[in-house]
Amino acid sequence: MFIYASDNVRELGGAKKWWLHKSLLSLIESLKSLGVKLIIRKGKDSSSVLKSLISEVHADSVYWNKRFDPLAKSRDENIKKELISSGINVECFDGFLLHNPNSFFTADGKPYGVFTPFWKKFQNEIVVSAPLPVPERLQGVEFDVHLERLEDLNLLPKIKWYAEMENFWSVSEQDAQKRLNWFISHALDGYGENRDRPDLDGTSLMSPYLASGLISPRQIWHSVVNSKKNGVSEGAEAFLRELAWREFSYHVLYHNPDMVNANLKKEFDAFPWRWDKTDDYVKWTKGLTGIPIIDAGMRQLWKTGWMHNRVRMIVASWLTKNLLIHWKIGEEWFWDTLVDADIANNVQGWQWTAGCGADAAPYFRIFNPVLQSKKFDPKGMYIRKWVPELAKLPDEYIHEPWNAPVYLLKMIGLELGKDYPLPMASIEETRKRALEAFEKIRRKN
Ligand code: FAD
Repeated sequence: MFIYASDNVRELGGAKKWWLHKSLLSLIESLKSLGVKLIIRKGKDSSSVLKSLISEVHADSVYWNKRFDPLAKSRDENIKKELISSGINVECFDGFLLHNPNSFFTADGKPYGVFTPFWKKFQNEIVVSAPLPVPERLQGVEFDVHLERLEDLNLLPKIKWYAEMENFWSVSEQDAQKRLNWFISHALDGYGENRDRPDLDGTSLMSPYLASGLISPRQIWHSVVNSKKNGVSEGAEAFLRELAWREFSYHVLYHNPDMVNANLKKEFDAFPWRWDKTDDYVKWTKGLTGIPIIDAGMRQLWKTGWMHNRVRMIVASWLTKNLLIHWKIGEEWFWDTLVDADIANNVQGWQWTAGCGADAAPYFRIFNPVLQSKKFDPKGMYIRKWVPELAKLPDEYIHEPWNAPVYLLKMIGLELGKDYPLPMASIEETRKRALEAFEKIRRKN
């Protein structure tokens, strides 16, 4: 059964609603091949929708995977209590993650706040059990019950802005598996070196499938471990470590539920954030900042619903540090535009980059977008793809077109300020301003 209700969970963003629509379509088909109809219901609160179906089909047991984000967690715990008190058997599983975020702590009994020791403990404590085989047949409800039509959930917007996403993604359990297999045979070995390169197809693209449950982390973990007959390769080791970042995000969120909206490091409450969605923010969302790597990332996000991790850090650092705009504003934009929008990873990614999250690194590590671009997109292939108006620039100037000589710009027919914006702000000056703002709150504490 799939319940689409709005109680106690954050409304999905536009991109994720599109993804959900496609996922449900594929789930309907997969269940059909096992002889089962997916029952879709919608309503204001999940509890009444579920209880009404339980009585219609005379169910005596209900099973679900636990959710670990604060709102869904408390909703599901309440439903569990209500059902148990009315005599229904309820069983809940940890399948969304590799570990239960409440299962291990530091030596002094506290939740982890830094990734490296968390990962060490994770490797020592967690045995990831092998996934069970897909059942050959399932028993569904044997008589007719009301089925809501998928279209009635209104997950697709009226304007077809998602056309490019349709070209980029294939959304089904089988497609997740296919992409994972491709990644393991073509990119896993080089993952350690290539994972930071947005110009290469070097990461797994598993995030939207994971976020929507089209593949489980246990399936991924075991496929990667089993792919290496003679022990886990360096690439595989680096990949499993990244997968554990997802676990860490949930661990931190589970123990700090208010971090969805509040700074994890409380001293940042006094930071002079701008809560401003005007010009600077609009340029950022549209990929018109005049800084090529940032614009490439923001346009990739808009067109595909996904952005490379390295570039997520660069664009988030620009918004929160150089522009001093509050991380929550960026987090909300990502929430609306990412097909992999995931509350724990998104909040964690934003707070980490903004400097107020679970990280031991000092605030003054501010990403320089030009240096990052030169290092991780050396030939500017990523920029050329997403910012085609810059495609004719030679490698030397693709990262900072404002330094290109006038004759060259003329030769390739590029007028800065007209065909492509000049930088919206000075990288150096805004960096200095961010450091001064940080210094003020540091002195106060
Ligand atoms: P791979 O490199 O192939 O990694 C495999 C899996 O490991 C990913 O699918 C993901 O589940 C996990 N993973 C990898 N890197 C991270 C990370 N830094 N933090 C947590 N888990 C990670 N990820 C989301 O899934 N949803 C989000 O909403 C999200 N928002 C982010 C916002 C910001 C500002 C930043 C900096 C990062 C965010 N991330 C988010 C983390 C990361 O960017 C994506 O998980 C990754 O880019 C997904 O691509 P992939 O599946 O090819 O990753």
